[in-house]
Formats: sequence, structure tokens, C-alpha cells
Amino acid sequence: MPDTLPLRIDGKDVPAADGATFAVHNPATGDHLFDVAHANAADVDAAVTAAKTAFEDRRWQGMRARDRARVLNRAAAELDHRIDEFARLETLQIGRPLREMRAQLSRLPEWLEYFGAVAHSAEGTVPDFGEGYLNVVHRVPLGVAGLITPWNHPLLITMKKLSAGLAAGNSLVIKPSELGPAVPVALAGLLEEAGVPAGVINVVTGLGPTTGRFLSEHPGLARLDITGGTETGRVVAGNAGRSLIPVTAELGGKAPVIVFDDTEIEQAVAGAMFASFIATGQTCVQGARLLVQRTVYERFVHRFVERTRSLRLGDPLAARTQVGPLVSRAQRDKTAAAVDRAREQGATVLCGGRVPEGAVFDRGWFYEPTVVAGVTPDHELWYDEVFGPVTVVVPFDDEADATAKANDCPFGLAASVWTADAGRALRVTDRLDIGIIWVNDHHRIDPSSPWGGTKDSGIGSENGLDAYRAYTRAKSVIINSSGRPFDWYATAEDLRYS
Ligand code: NDP
Repeated sequence: MPDTLPLRIDGKDVPAADGATFAVHNPATGDHLFDVAHANAADVDAAVTAAKTAFEDRRWQGMRARDRARVLNRAAAELDHRIDEFARLETLQIGRPLREMRAQLSRLPEWLEYFGAVAHSAEGTVPDFGEGYLNVVHRVPLGVAGLITPWNHPLLITMKKLSAGLAAGNSLVIKPSELGPAVPVALAGLLEEAGVPAGVINVVTGLGPTTGRFLSEHPGLARLDITGGTETGRVVAGNAGRSLIPVTAELGGKAPVIVFDDTEIEQAVAGAMFASFIATGQTCVQGARLLVQRTVYERFVHRFVERTRSLRLGDPLAARTQVGPLVSRAQRDKTAAAVDRAREQGATVLCGGRVPEGAVFDRGWFYEPTVVAGVTPDHELWYDEVFGPVTVVVPFDDEADATAKANDCPFGLAASVWTADAGRALRVTDRLDIGIIWVNDHHRIDPSSPWGGTKDSGIGSENGLDAYRAYTRAKSVIINSSGRPFDWYATAEDLRYS
């Protein structure tokens, strides 16, 4: 790692034009890790200009899709070799246990392989335009796409957007989170070594209200793809909207985990633990609301609390650690404030609800995994996204009650349904106004499977064919092959023109 992480513009590592930097710290220890170039408006403009030049001279979009796919496959193989290095870097910056980051990153080469294959097999269409005409509809890349990404899965979320955009032939300007910028910068270098031409991928590190805003306001973009909080999404979509730039936005969530009494309780408890506490609860699909059928509520909650108390918090680099710190002091304080507010409003904290004590926790942003009961729609904790290791347990009576409670939420990103009854699973999934629903599982992801939410959880989706198509547009070429003369103004006869 260099002392100061540079910007990556037009295939070169460069400092910010005005030399500005900011620091990244280890959230488990508070140690200073490195400084990062803070891109200003001129840097963002240079990155968009480099990306636009690369797009317009067709150095990447002009390659056959087969050859782009080959480059992406080479990059996938190289990434596979560097998983341990990147996983460690992610853990140092964001505090997620190394075991989690290894597991997550080891899947990422699949995204490059999948979207390479999609690009290679993509075909246009030939609509029936009528006799004497041939209409060929190509799918072509859009131009320069701006990608703005969060810190909770720095490489995964960058990869989801980048692989679809690149495979389709676009140029990119990436603005990673200020808290986890190192691996996206390294990924740009890796892709260039694999054969992506210089200038096609540019990375501008910096802060949201400066670098992120400059990017989202830049009229040179053809598309903006953001993952972040809902309020950030509204601001960014507003900025892009003024230049009529289409936006995909993957935003907040408050996922219900719905447990029916016909399910195997130990399995449901294990699933709910994974849903609630992976990434120290800092995922958009976090199981933030455990809705449990009243007949098994006591049994489920007893076991869930017992297992939550036994989770091992600690140094995220240590193999035995199951839960790391939160990413920052702000995130830890926000979590603690949400729990304190629930207490004030009459809820009961069944376990956790405090900063852990002990030398290992002194310098980091730790908070105990927390289970809260007695939360009702009158409480902020019912609706607000905490983005920390806090989940509420709520009883329900029947299918109608479960779906009503699950849908009573401003977000609609994800849910899981735990039941042994296939008919019930289908009825319940049918009624949920939610984008991603797992049955007897939680937080499974695949590059081929659409990922996106309803309501305040965003616009559009990542992964799968829809995500690829959203990085292209139709170009319709209509060829008159009839040989018939056509002169509208030379005759009074009724000519067919539409
Ligand atoms: P933020 O909304 O704070 O930030 C997301 C990105 O936007 C960061 O790069 C940030 O920069 C940037 N940003 C912040 N303000 C602006 C602005 N005014 N203009 C342009 N860019 C800006 O989210 P977090 O990073 O805290 O991530 C957590 C949120 O992301 C949660 O709400 C979570 O639910 C959501 N999320 C959604 C996912 C999904 O798939 N739907 C997946 C993962 C997370 P900086 O880091 O410098 O502030």
C-alpha cells in the first residue's frame, strides 16, 4: 500500500489536483491506515473526460464482445489469486471479520465470468416492421457510467455494477466510499493488467458531499448507478435527473424474517442469526425484524437470545471472531442511539444494547449484538433502518397478520420466509411487496439473480440480464428494402407512411 492512495485517471495513478487528502482508520483499533487523495471537481471532470474519450474512440466498446469477455475472464482468474490480499485489506478498513470477507470475495470472480458470458451471447432483435423493410435493433453501450458505492461490501458492490457496465462496453468513473476505497482502486489496476484499455475505468476517491456530488452532477454521464442510504439516493437521483441521466439506486432496507410454526426452529434460529448479525448487522438485507408465529414465539426467542449472547466479538483479523466492530464512530453512535430511543419508548432489550467492556474493545467501534422486544408501529425502531447489530422480535398470528406486518415498512428490499409448507411459502411470497425473497434461507446472492427493491429501497436492479440491459440502449436501424419509389408531395394519392 502506498502512504497515500492515488486517484486512477486515464490509466495513471495521480494525486488530487489540489493535493488534498483524507485519512482512513482501522475501526477495530482506531489506528491510522493510510491517506487517500480527495478528488475535487477538476479531478472528477478529468476522470469523466478520460472515460468519454475512451468511449468515443471505441478502444473498449469497439472490441468484439467475445474479446471483452476474454479480458474479463483473465481478470477473474487474477482476482481469484488475490482474494486473501484483498480480503485482509477490506477487513483492515471496514472491520468485518476476515472469515466473512474471504467468503464474500471468493465469489466475486463469478461476476466477471457471468457478465462476460452475457455480453458474448447477447443478441439484437428483428421486429416485424412489415414487407419491404428490415428493422435491426442492436443493444449498444450507453457511454460513461458513474458508480457510487458504499463501504459495507466495498468490492462486492463495486463488482456488481462494474462487471455489467464493462461487459456491455461502457466506460466507468467509480466513486468508492471514503471508508473503504483501497480495493476498488486496486481492482481498476488489476482489470487494466488483464487487458481493459487505459481510461475505460477511472476511480475518484473522496467524500460524498464533495467528490460524490461532483460526479452525480456531471452532465457527461450517460448513467448513474448508486448503492447507499435512501436519503443519499434521493439527493443523487435529483442531481442526475437535472441532466436527464438515468439512475439505478440500491438503497436502504429493513428486512423481515418471517418464521412460521411448522418450520424446524433450530434452522430458523440459525438463519435469523446469519440474517441479523453478518457484517455486524451492516447489510441492506439485514434481518432487522424477526416476525415469529405466536405459537412458537417464546421458544424461538429464548433460543435466539441464547445464541446471540454466545457470539464472539473481537479483533476482526482473528480466526475465532464472529462479530467485528461497526465501521465508524458515527455508525456505532447511531446504533446506540436507536436502541436507547427504543428503551425510552417502552421497548425491552432482551440482550446486548451496550458497548462491550474489555481491553480489546477500548479503541474500536464495537456494540453488542442486540435483540429488542415490545416494539410496535408507534416506535421509530419499527420503521427506521439502524444499519447495526440490532433486531426486533415481534409475534404474529397467521399468514395475513405476518404479511401485513412485513409490508408495514417504507422499505421493500428483502425478506425471508421460514416454513415447511410449500403452498404457504408461495402464498406469502405472493403477498409481500418486496424485491428479493428467500424461502428457508437468507442473504443468498448470485450474479444471474436480480437484486433490487421496491418503495424506498430504490430503483432498478443489479445482477442478471436486466442489469446488463440497463447498461445498454436500443439502437433501431430501419432499412427500406422494397425498391418502391416514395414521393409524398408528388401525388395526391393516399400513401402509406406509418
Ligand atoms: P451513504 O448513503 O452514506 O453513502 C453511499 C455512497 O454515496 C458513498 O460513496 C458516499 O460517500 C456517497 N455519498 C454520500 N453523500 C453523497 C452526496 N451528497 N452525493 C453523492 N454521493 C454521496 O451509505 P453508506 O456508505 O453509509 O452505506 C449504507 C447504506 O447503503 C445503507 O442505507 C444500506 O441499506 C445501503 N445499502 C444498500 C444496498 C442495496 O443493495 N440496496 C447494499 C448495501 C448498502 P462517502 O462514503 O464519502 O460518504
